[in-house]
Amino acid sequence: MPNNNKELILSAPLSGPVLTLAHVPDAVFASGAMGDGIAIDPLNDTLYAPCDGEVIHVARTGHAVTLRADNGAELLLHLGLDTVELQGDGFSMLVKEGARVSNGQALLRYDVDSVAQRCKSLVSLLIITNGEHFQARPITLKGVKVGEPLLHIVAKRPGEIRGNDADMDIEVFGQIRIAHRGGLHARPAALVRQTAQGFKSRSHLHFGGRSASCDSVMGLMGLAINEQAQVHVSCRGSDAEAALQALLATLSTAAAENDHAHAPPVKAPSRAAEDGVLQGVCAAPGLVAGPLVRLDGLQLPDDDGGHDIEEQRQRLRQALEHVSGDIRLTLENAKARRHDNEQAIFSAHLALLEDPALLDAAYVSIDQGDAATHAWSRSIDAQCQVLRQLGSPLLAERANDLRDLRQRVLRALLGEAWQFEVPAGAIVAAQELTPSDLLHLSAQGVAGVCMAEGGATSHVAILARGKGVPCLVALGDALLAQAPGQSVVLDADGGRLELAPTAERLTQVQQAQARRAALRAQQQSLAHAPARTIDGVGIEIAANVASSAEAGQAVANGADGVGLLRTEFLFVDRRTAPDEQEQCQAYQAVLDAMGEKPVIIRTIDVGGDKQLDYLPLPAEANPVLGLRGIRLALVHPELLDQQLRALLQTRPLHRCRILLPMVTEVDELLHIRQRLDALVAELDLSERPQLGVMIEVPAAALLAEQLAEHADFLSIGTNDLSQYTLAMDRDHAGLAARVDALHPALLLLIAQTCAGAAKHGRWVGVCGALASDPLATPVLIGLGVRELSVSPPQVGEIKDRVRHLDAGQCRRVSTDLLNLASAAAVRQACHQHWPLG
Ligand code: PEP
Ligand code: MG
Repeated sequence: MPNNNKELILSAPLSGPVLTLAHVPDAVFASGAMGDGIAIDPLNDTLYAPCDGEVIHVARTGHAVTLRADNGAELLLHLGLDTVELQGDGFSMLVKEGARVSNGQALLRYDVDSVAQRCKSLVSLLIITNGEHFQARPITLKGVKVGEPLLHIVAKRPGEIRGNDADMDIEVFGQIRIAHRGGLHARPAALVRQTAQGFKSRSHLHFGGRSASCDSVMGLMGLAINEQAQVHVSCRGSDAEAALQALLATLSTAAAENDHAHAPPVKAPSRAAEDGVLQGVCAAPGLVAGPLVRLDGLQLPDDDGGHDIEEQRQRLRQALEHVSGDIRLTLENAKARRHDNEQAIFSAHLALLEDPALLDAAYVSIDQGDAATHAWSRSIDAQCQVLRQLGSPLLAERANDLRDLRQRVLRALLGEAWQFEVPAGAIVAAQELTPSDLLHLSAQGVAGVCMAEGGATSHVAILARGKGVPCLVALGDALLAQAPGQSVVLDADGGRLELAPTAERLTQVQQAQARRAALRAQQQSLAHAPARTIDGVGIEIAANVASSAEAGQAVANGADGVGLLRTEFLFVDRRTAPDEQEQCQAYQAVLDAMGEKPVIIRTIDVGGDKQLDYLPLPAEANPVLGLRGIRLALVHPELLDQQLRALLQTRPLHRCRILLPMVTEVDELLHIRQRLDALVAELDLSERPQLGVMIEVPAAALLAEQLAEHADFLSIGTNDLSQYTLAMDRDHAGLAARVDALHPALLLLIAQTCAGAAKHGRWVGVCGALASDPLATPVLIGLGVRELSVSPPQVGEIKDRVRHLDAGQCRRVSTDLLNLASAAAVRQACHQHWPLG
């Protein structure tokens, strides 16, 4: 066939039944890590060329040969599995490197019986190794004879090709030891992919004689790389060197595994029968009682066939987009609340949803006549199988993340919402729950969850610990035979599910549960009252919100106001800027939701790494040290003017307080104050809102006294203040444990800020994450902070904390903390002086 448009039909190089890669009994080939292609279980003894081309590589051991077809596709023909170990015995190569061959020419002959007896399988592969340029579509999946049409190769469109730059010949190599706990599982693999995608070059990891593209999380997991294993990295393209350095850094920096630090000790299930008790493994601690509710997975109806291929492809594409959109929302939410584990887990899900190995297999299956639902389900099953075969329990557990994506995409395809509603206080039993099930159940207020399968290091377990939902895994199939509705006791700490608790035991557990609930209820019942310390110092407990809906939650939880409304939510992820009216409505909605309470609205804090489509900015070498926050607004005065105008049109203005991010000098504040005064005059207003300054860089803390002279209040952003004081990226996975705002250097800056503000009678708040840490409450009060802006569900807890403190004693002890040697020492001292309940 001519090579017009780089299309090519490959003919069968062997005779025998055809298999998709997913059915090849070899994890690496099956995962697509080596590239896209097809397999044949051969019945003949000679391998033939599938097209005209040049022999570009011949395996020393004679079991494989690579051709470059005339359209540029590079084709690996690999005879049998693990045949490299035969060291050439039984093979005779009939061609040499550099030879030109024609379609149907014999390439290698082998002794069928001898090779078949000594290798894992004769299943042979035809793989496109430069798959970034080409796509393969099987023509048949039935048996073929040598020379019959087998595979359709088409060139990818230019937009589908990454790394197609002029300097593709620059290739660099490096090697590194993997630092990630548990090896290269889903979250670190997603980090590697994210790093690689920041460059034009194409990058691969090589391990144990196999390779995988850094674009594929599945492929990377398929290499089954353990912690501390030595891997090779190759990068090819114009920015290869930079890509290599970035990848080496990612691979050698252990991701912060916060969850491991708090993971309960894992108890091996002892199956010693105890009547009426199922033994399992503790995945999240706790002791609860409640009615058992059974949750079953989604069942697919039979596929009747007869589908329109294009329509099914389109349905799958739409479902995938829908689920990606949902996951992005979860991610934004997790990011806003700085739930790092949740963020890492769902980022990995997003990467899996775009994985070429998963998508290609599903689309091939649709092309062969399957419905989108069944194609997606099969593709997931095949990859789950790959993960299970790798021999790593941790990677086997990641199959659950794939099952999560199966469920979500199937729900989108079938047009089903979450089909389960579970009563609050129930104990949910399931074969295995997925991460998104867990988020959903936790939001519904379940008392605990237990699973027949699953592991204590799974993503569900991590989320359960984060949400405080007691969780037992690996209880065995007996769990699923239990009658729903029966009262059970979930003793996660003891690894036990008590199926027939006595009335006395139930009462005992329910009482303990009730005490905890009562404490929470008591905190909530007092959450609407002001918080005062024992010695009468009033501390305002406000909430951080990002929308009017969250403001509603803040009020319901007793917040004294909004301490920080991040306005970026209005500006990001859209093609055009919100106009003055849209902004005004959004801000007014938050003010309305807060009743009579004050709302602090921060002006836009984008720039750096948060880009806006409609405001192109030059790329920055160091985004967090670049044009961000108020600096960006000063360069684009029209943006800030519009926002100030919108803010000035909200009512009542005395409840609307404006906060400026990333201020580093007094002139910035004075400039904006002038602008605000001019707009107040222009709009003919009789009052003007208060204007505050965020203290989130050391320069601002050091100049607090001067800033306070011209500002109405100061609000400390401990997230950025930690980053800029400690010179540690606040999002650096490997440094997460060290970016601790209780570092004595930060405490000094906070003390200095409060002292500076006091000279001018201004109040100081904290709106960074430290405000939500109950261990830090006495220190902040002691240093002079009078407002804490926390996440809405924590308002009651932090108010309760305040009411048990003596501000005078906090002041005396906090002064001493400034002299301590580390954040860890400060934390320890806090535990001693002000133990948590
Ligand atoms: C901070 O830096 O502490 C802060 C509250 O702002 P953001 O987290 O939005 O940067
Ligand atoms: Mg900040």
